[in-house]
Amino acid sequence: MKMQTGELLYKGKAKSIYRTEKDDELLAVFRDDITAFNGEKKDEFAGKGEYNFAASAFFFDFLEKNGVKTHYLRAVDERSMVVSKLDMIPLEVIARNRAAGSIVKKFPFKEGQILNPPVISTDYKDDERGDPPINDDLVVALCLLTPDELMNVRETTLKINRILSDFFEELGLILVDFKIEFGRKDGIIVLGDEISMDSMRLWDRETMESFDKDVYRYDKGDFMSAYARVVEKINQWKDSHME
Ligand code: 5GP
Repeated sequence: MKMQTGELLYKGKAKSIYRTEKDDELLAVFRDDITAFNGEKKDEFAGKGEYNFAASAFFFDFLEKNGVKTHYLRAVDERSMVVSKLDMIPLEVIARNRAAGSIVKKFPFKEGQILNPPVISTDYKDDERGDPPINDDLVVALCLLTPDELMNVRETTLKINRILSDFFEELGLILVDFKIEFGRKDGIIVLGDEISMDSMRLWDRETMESFDKDVYRYDKGDFMSAYARVVEKINQWKDSHME
């Protein structure tokens, strides 16, 4: 079923958000664009949007079933979903189970070092400022979250991390880290944006090979095959868990 798209409200690096006939619902369309290093590297690969859509739709549904409130309402086609309209909070909340990426550059961690307990950190979402790291006091001073909401976001992120880490373990993958974003609906904090291979690091448990955007970022191989493999594993898991 193809949905009639309304006015384009927002065009992100990999998703476009459209108005729908309902004031409190939006249409999120996962495009084939891929970018890295704040847009310095960019490409388009036919079908990439469908992989990230498939992963996001599955994870939102899976998290809802595990008690996490998300903006996901329903799939419309193979790259579009209807979501609740949220007032987005301009924070990128990052959970890490192993050291990789920016924290290895900034701090004396060894690549792959296990972080137990997991490390949660937050960046202020602002491309022009280069998404700078932000701490709890700054978040409250900027009125982005109240102290109670801060605690809620942290606890929810840890819960999401537990759910997703356990899931990926079943798939033979390590959830190294991921980035999520939250918004408010009727004053309640709700998970928004996407959860996909663009926004997480996934390593094979045996070989430590990447199955995520790092394959594209660092030219480690064919990232489309890596994304396809993750979706294939998700689909195999779904097939084996059908009631
Ligand atoms: P790092 O801080 O190491 O660059 O990123 C940590 C994790 O968050 C990685 O899984 C990375 O893909 C994700 N991440 C960080 N910033 C962004 C961003 O702006 N967009 C997306 N999609 N993911 C991000």
